[in-house]
Amino acid sequence: MMAMADDGMFPMSELPRLNLRERGIELTAEQLFNSSEISLVDGICRVNGCTGSFVSSDGLIITNHHCAFDAIQKASTRERDLLNEGFIAQQRQYEIPAPDYQVRITENYRDISAEVLAAVHDGMTFLERTKAIDKRRKELEISAEKENPGLRAEVAEMFAGRSYVLFLYTYLKDVRLVFAPPASVGNFGGEVDNWEWPRHTGDFSFMRAYTAPDGSSATYSKVNIPFRPKRFIQVAPEGVDEGDAVFLLGYPGRTARHRTASFLQYEQNVRLPLTVDLYQWQISEMDKAGSTDRAVAIKHASRSKSLANVEKRSRGQLQGMRRAKIPEYRLQQEAGLQQFIDSDPQRKQKYGTLLKDLAAVYEEMSVAGSLEIHLMQLRQACRAAAFGFFVIDAVSERAKPDLERESPFMDRNFTQSTQEIRVSMTDWHPPTDQILLTGMLQRLSTIPGAAQISGLQDLLKQPERIPEAAASLITQTRLGDQTFVEECLKKTPTELASVNDPLLQLMRSLYPEYLKLRELDKTREGKLNQLYGSLIEIKQQFLSTSFVPDANATLRFTSGHVRAYSPADAVVRTPVSTLKGVIEKTTGVEPFVTPDAVLKKYAAGDFGRFVHPRLGQVPVAILYDTDTTGGNSGSPVLNSRGHLVGVNFDRCFEATINDFAWNQDYSRSIGVDIRYVLWITGTVYEARHLLTEMGVTP
Ligand code: ASP
Repeated sequence: MMAMADDGMFPMSELPRLNLRERGIELTAEQLFNSSEISLVDGICRVNGCTGSFVSSDGLIITNHHCAFDAIQKASTRERDLLNEGFIAQQRQYEIPAPDYQVRITENYRDISAEVLAAVHDGMTFLERTKAIDKRRKELEISAEKENPGLRAEVAEMFAGRSYVLFLYTYLKDVRLVFAPPASVGNFGGEVDNWEWPRHTGDFSFMRAYTAPDGSSATYSKVNIPFRPKRFIQVAPEGVDEGDAVFLLGYPGRTARHRTASFLQYEQNVRLPLTVDLYQWQISEMDKAGSTDRAVAIKHASRSKSLANVEKRSRGQLQGMRRAKIPEYRLQQEAGLQQFIDSDPQRKQKYGTLLKDLAAVYEEMSVAGSLEIHLMQLRQACRAAAFGFFVIDAVSERAKPDLERESPFMDRNFTQSTQEIRVSMTDWHPPTDQILLTGMLQRLSTIPGAAQISGLQDLLKQPERIPEAAASLITQTRLGDQTFVEECLKKTPTELASVNDPLLQLMRSLYPEYLKLRELDKTREGKLNQLYGSLIEIKQQFLSTSFVPDANATLRFTSGHVRAYSPADAVVRTPVSTLKGVIEKTTGVEPFVTPDAVLKKYAAGDFGRFVHPRLGQVPVAILYDTDTTGGNSGSPVLNSRGHLVGVNFDRCFEATINDFAWNQDYSRSIGVDIRYVLWITGTVYEARHLLTEMGVTP
């Protein structure tokens, strides 16, 4: 049944209706989540866009290497290359602050749909509708924060236009790097193996959260003390085997399973192919720039890795959509729904044009897609343009009353937003920026409509002069200079207008265009919000069932079993990979290099207690049929008793389409086996103090 096939990740409110025993889980719904008592969820956190688990009473967090990657990269230099060499803090005072990291813990939640929807009424334009919902959400957040000092409130839209939940979170702002294996372990196989099974990557790292001495949340300070979580997750060094039940808790980012076929067509025909094209080009430019200078490669490492991750996922999604005929399948479902609507005059009157109206929005987005996406990329790919846009936007938004500002510029968010920009400026590399700005302008010069945009007219008039113009913009701008940016942020809009900086001026002349796009987005959002609200309503009547909402970076539960899979006819892949496979794949050529320390321990057969009893090898990664997406990176893989047996980090290629449609048959998530984590940390790199801290005998 379609509805069931779509449901694999459940919000906490759905736990009581699940038969956990049947799923092989020995804990009750209250033991998993309970807002008035300590439950398993108190040991889970969000780490920036990923998930993590507390694994000691002193705030030690385990997450993925790729989730800590940015912190490792920011702390690396050519001379002290932590990406290549790995990092171990032998004592706590050596742990390295990660100033753009935050850890979030879910404390409580409540449904506030009625309060949010009371802000909208029928006479509103779509733009007014979006703005009204947005404003009400902010008001509710601010008032909840007043009632719950020390906590942060965030409203999440569950079903577009229908349901909203207010979450209360603890945020921790002093996060430090504790242990990272070398990238040759943590990212073994690199992009070749990314999104693939079998996998041999030790994709894990340890971080630690700190608080002020009184236990309250605080930014980095020497006097801070380790955070004391209400509970931590117990590590199970015995791991799991094929057939065992596992479950995950985490913060999956986004899925789009309740969207229409017309949305899927937009993704398939416009957004995904453009993403692949634009990202492939940017990655190759960054690779070229870094190929002869390690310091440059380090600067680009984090950005290039995340672009590569999305690029390959997008290719997986394109392939999967085609192979599994997902848009066609959804069209078929919608034909059934349309028939149901048309079969009753009252229904027909209310919902008759719903699917067509939704399709019209995506049609409009498809037509405008190329220009809009390129304009947005102009101020993403070129980092100095991104900094310039941030400054202009901040100064203009901060001149408005708090509740009317874009969210990053509200008083409660601005410190964090500027901190993120400040940290990202440390990676600025003008030569790459010049190449990317040139390329983006050249691309724009071929797109209909771009040369008519007032800020771009002069630049695009003579495409052959773009390289020269871009060179002069990048060499003359001061937008890569932190002090200059900080100074600009203090100015009023009028003062900023007279700052003489060519790239800042270019972004200022493009600002009205970006504002138009923002308003257009809000108008579409308002339209979609209303239409999807009705779609869910009628779908529920049609299928006489209820669904769970799409992922939205709030806490979810998913469960399954360690399970083999068959990616193609006559091919079966077993679900546990081992150290033997790491050795087999090792060629000595990137990304298949293995550190000597690992090779030596392997040669000596020094596996200690971390051997898989059936396979006689240290297990490296496991495969299981849960429902996960980006954001589940770092999620604990838990056994039936809720103990840690792995750390989730990926999906197989075929499962990348579960962002659009989920089915347990093809869905496979990938985690690093806890035994590999413990063997690498304790046996190979001798950080036995961490095993002791987790209560594991080395
Ligand atoms: N490797 C993935 C990511 O970081 C996790 C997933 O999407 O399953 O996006």
